[in-house]
Amino acid sequence: MTNQRLSGATTQQGDGVVGREVLARLAQLDDWSQYREHHWEGTFSQYLEIVLKDPRPLRSAFQRLYDMILSFGATEYTQHRQKRIHYHFFDDPVGSGEDALFGLDLHLMSLVNIFKSAARRYGTERRIILLHGPVGSAKSTIVRLLKKGLEYYTRQPEGALYSFSWLLPDGNLAPCPLNEEPLKLLPEKVRQAFLKEINQGKREDEQVWVEGDLCPVCRFYFKQFVKEASGDWEKVLAEKIRVRRVIFNEKDRVGIGTFQPKDEKNQDSTELTGDIDYRLIAIYGSDSDPRAFRFDGEFCVANRGLIEFIEMLKLDVAFLYDLLGASQEHTIKPKKFAQTDIDEVIIAHTNEPEYRKLQRNEYMEALRDRTIKVDIPYVLKVSDEVKIYSKFFNPSRVKGKHIAPHTLEVAAMWAILTRLEDPKKFQVSLLQKMKLYDGRALPGFTEDHILELRDEAPREGMFGISPRYVMDKISNALVSEESPSCINPFVVLKELDDGLDHYSLISNEDQRRRYRDLLSLVRQEYDEMIKNEVRRAITADEEALKRVFQNYIENVKAYVRGEKVRNRLTGEPEEPDERLMRSIEEKIDIPVSRKDDFRREIMNYIASLALEGKTFDYKSNERLLRALELKLFEDQKDSIRLGSLVTGAVDRETQEKIDVIKTRLIRDYGYCETCATDILTYVASIFARGDIKEREESRR
Ligand SMILES: [Zn+2]
Ligand SMILES: [Zn+2]
Repeated sequence: MTNQRLSGATTQQGDGVVGREVLARLAQLDDWSQYREHHWEGTFSQYLEIVLKDPRPLRSAFQRLYDMILSFGATEYTQHRQKRIHYHFFDDPVGSGEDALFGLDLHLMSLVNIFKSAARRYGTERRIILLHGPVGSAKSTIVRLLKKGLEYYTRQPEGALYSFSWLLPDGNLAPCPLNEEPLKLLPEKVRQAFLKEINQGKREDEQVWVEGDLCPVCRFYFKQFVKEASGDWEKVLAEKIRVRRVIFNEKDRVGIGTFQPKDEKNQDSTELTGDIDYRLIAIYGSDSDPRAFRFDGEFCVANRGLIEFIEMLKLDVAFLYDLLGASQEHTIKPKKFAQTDIDEVIIAHTNEPEYRKLQRNEYMEALRDRTIKVDIPYVLKVSDEVKIYSKFFNPSRVKGKHIAPHTLEVAAMWAILTRLEDPKKFQVSLLQKMKLYDGRALPGFTEDHILELRDEAPREGMFGISPRYVMDKISNALVSEESPSCINPFVVLKELDDGLDHYSLISNEDQRRRYRDLLSLVRQEYDEMIKNEVRRAITADEEALKRVFQNYIENVKAYVRGEKVRNRLTGEPEEPDERLMRSIEEKIDIPVSRKDDFRREIMNYIASLALEGKTFDYKSNERLLRALELKLFEDQKDSIRLGSLVTGAVDRETQEKIDVIKTRLIRDYGYCETCATDILTYVASIFARGDIKEREESRR
């Protein structure tokens, strides 16, 4: 039906010329030039020439993975006085950036170091790498990145690898089901001699090893053909082998395997190692004929690449032997066949509750011993958490709805707070700790304080709210009819709150209450943020600021020198205006006892700037600027009559003034008409409640 209708439409609209043009245009977007390279086939001796020139195809699975990561480059930097490396690979350069990771450099560094030592065969190549972290931390994203990276890398010339097929007497090709390295066809002694030649004079990280025996299928053909050739294996390699390039592709089940345990009673080891094909037994006559076996278990598929074990600890104990053999011995044991050599990266993940079970389970001791755990916690920096959300909620993806300033930030603040422990040291509040972790300067705090706070709470990041929960709630808010044109922090905070009633990962009422308390903490903080912003928008009047500034400095100068000030109107000399000076100084909590010092400091600062040939202006001292803004705000607040926004009785003059502020909010702070009006009204109601005395926000 559908087909008929489609073709009918084509006839109605034309002869398909336009469609063919479109197709041709689309095809140009795809790069077909590599097709021939990717499907390269050749003889065994041609292959020897390839690896003599560049032995990189011979790398082990770990070497290839490690080199792949390094191929995207890295940046070194210092954090908390420690050296850090950021591997660009984890920015998702291969994909669209959606899998980019933030704030995990320290943990990714230990992961990459494990790959590195495994690449050099220091022992970690015989371990299962277990990513461990709370639900919704980046564990599976990391594995997805590695898989994508390998797929990409094997398509590049520097990441090329090869396998082979057997040319059968009937003209058909029988590919090695495990995509084994062609050099494995060389008898062991010969192979080692050849590798020695290749490794001659190479650096340690360039050395290659090709180890292990052929798979049962290849052994079968090898024996048969060598027998037919009266032992002349050289002839067999020359006549019976077609070497071919291998491109990893998870969908095609080449080089990338994934195993996810189903329910516990329904696990079957053939999913890992393959199964007998009863149809083929009829042809080959025996279930021990390797040709009647399908080597298509995940371990087989993933040979030379990577296998992922999702929720590894849900695996049936019977399976663990397969897993242990695969990691420790690099072998698998398909039914009816001998141990079969494999070479692949085994990477698994598990969440916190499952892992605790592992620690209590004696059966799992062997597993524990052969596992390297890498913690992948939630991020603890608000700015990193915001980056995670911004991948999905940004103007290029969210069309038709504006996201008000601070919306993602406020959600992120809450998420981070749920992941922190109450600080015991230094009398910092939880909110201050959050800001310190985020790299904001707090007076009196240094890097050492931050390090001590981190040391005091090593489990931070392994509990709390997952980014997934927050992003689900932001999505809800975005599709909600209640806020048709713009979502703001209030809407999102409400969603976050409502969702807590049904959030399955909350284990008890205390926890739910704590999360709610943190929501109101964040809300208070948001009040402060927008009060500041509105105040800034109101005082973003340079001329007015300059006037207050000049007035203040004139008075301070006279005061410090014990002189008089000339009255602007009458020209009469007068005492410095103490009330004016204090009204500014009070804004930044300069007590009366400190006012002389403060004024002298300002004068000294002016003098020292003058010596350098610089002039002191209203922006020279951040603290003073803040005080001036607050003073100006106080002077203007009443004349702007923000309060009338609350009562609704706005006259024309007031409306004009409010519009100026609104325009500044839109132009300088990223608001839209809707949310600018919303926060102005909201802030007006706060001010109307008499919350006039604004303190300096040292925390900002
Ligand atoms: Zn094989
Ligand atoms: Zn808006």
